[in-house]
Amino acid sequence: MARYIFVTGGVVSSLGKGLASASLASLLQHHGYKVRIRKLDPYLNVDPGTMSPYQHGEVYVTDDGAETDLDLGHYERFTGVISKKSDNITSGQVYQKIINKERKGEYLGATVQVIPHVTNEIKKFISNDLDDEEFIICEIGGTIGDIESLPFVEAIRQFHNDNGHNNSLFMHVTLVPFIASSGELKTKPTQHSVKELRSLGIQPNILLCRSDREIPQEERKKIGLFCNVQDGNVIQAINANSIYEVPINFKNEGLDKRVLEYFNLDTGKEIDLKMWSQVSKHVLDPEGKVTIGIVGKYTGLADAYKSLNEALSHGGIFNNVRVELKWIESESLNESNVFEHLSNCDGILVPGGFGERGAEGKIAAIKFARENNTPYFGICFGMQLAVIEMARNILDIKDANSSEFSNCSNSIVGLMTEWSTSDNNKEKRTEESDLGGTMRLGSYEARLKKNSKIHSIYKNDIINERHRHRYEVNNKFSEEFEKKGVIFSGYSPDGVLPETVELKEHPWFIGVQYHPELKSKPFEPHPLFKSFIEAAKNKTQ
Ligand code: GLN
Repeated sequence: MARYIFVTGGVVSSLGKGLASASLASLLQHHGYKVRIRKLDPYLNVDPGTMSPYQHGEVYVTDDGAETDLDLGHYERFTGVISKKSDNITSGQVYQKIINKERKGEYLGATVQVIPHVTNEIKKFISNDLDDEEFIICEIGGTIGDIESLPFVEAIRQFHNDNGHNNSLFMHVTLVPFIASSGELKTKPTQHSVKELRSLGIQPNILLCRSDREIPQEERKKIGLFCNVQDGNVIQAINANSIYEVPINFKNEGLDKRVLEYFNLDTGKEIDLKMWSQVSKHVLDPEGKVTIGIVGKYTGLADAYKSLNEALSHGGIFNNVRVELKWIESESLNESNVFEHLSNCDGILVPGGFGERGAEGKIAAIKFARENNTPYFGICFGMQLAVIEMARNILDIKDANSSEFSNCSNSIVGLMTEWSTSDNNKEKRTEESDLGGTMRLGSYEARLKKNSKIHSIYKNDIINERHRHRYEVNNKFSEEFEKKGVIFSGYSPDGVLPETVELKEHPWFIGVQYHPELKSKPFEPHPLFKSFIEAAKNKTQ
């Protein structure tokens, strides 16, 4: 039987509802339950695909080709459950669907309204496309009190009513701040947030109180009293040293037991979280250190490269080293200052990216890595730019560039206009196609050449990785490149799209057209990140 846990947030944003949901899901898995986690996002964009990373952080791409909220990355990394398109909904999607139906006359003359039409669509989403999951955790984006989230809050209130009160639980994540001048923890913001939630018809069953220090029992009792929550269900969530400690901390605070108790399930089982304690230990107390220079455009916001940060740290966990990231703004980089910025890096990485701004700085970094035997990892845009750099400086095609840029005269990287999907259909695009949702998205197979470096890393002929790109490397120079030791070592199954490139005479120089960071997990680091960090570690030794 499916049980639903709705996670809302109060007081301020960025309290880590996503991590809290993922951590709770992991605990429930340890108790032997099958879980799914879903995200309900109140904004009006259809998906975050067209939003600036500064607005929304990274766009997380699922196997089935959806561009989704970065929290789905946390869910997948913490639970190992592969996220799907059907795990993320936005107001934009809901309204798009309703307006399309309305135009087709499907409402048979009815006035189309937030209640019941919008709320019905949201309720359908919550229980849509499930198998035999025992727990479905639904995180509601935004903060209680926002205008945007009202239909979502109303929908979960109705869902609770429709579905039987014992089958769903409301968990509210709030903040209990410490006010230095009075030397006190303050419960009032939590009280107000719960008051707001209750005015919308929702009585939280569990309060997860974020705090930078221990919340004394007295204060927890007070919160429980004012918020109408059993005091045992007022749970503190003190800032953790590493995100991997969060499941352990939750268990120590009894969150799993409180949830199971609510649903009248067995609370007797003692679970063993060795998996998380081992990962935390490696992160907090490693033996060595490597420095990776990341040359990107959104270096001011770590969330813009969330999965990448995580995947690099997974590579560090595997190699027992701390991975220090040196963020380098690509616009400030050029051939004359590249040494100063990058010479102390043990590895250089150019991540996915879009647009001309900063591209020349990235190319300068790639040239530096290639010529100085510094391990180089190019992801998507980082592969395309590596090919451009090598076309210019190895093949001597001086005007080599990407047709993504305005001044392109020789497109070594060009717009993809047609490609085969896994079910052997053709996807077609033109310059005029919409921007949203029209890239080559999701999981595609690639074939790796035997005796290549990448084959020895994956130890596999066939791989499946997630893509998000509109441009492709032009294959017509592959033979010329090969003569110079630049090998396209992986291709799409039809042999048309270069998927990986590597340099023969270099300790570690690999570019991939896909995003391997999206599939890395702390307890199952991605082979490319394991190998890249190992190469960086070898460089320091
Ligand atoms: N801008 C490039 C493209 O669209 C690369 C995209 C990416 O790095 N995700 O093909």
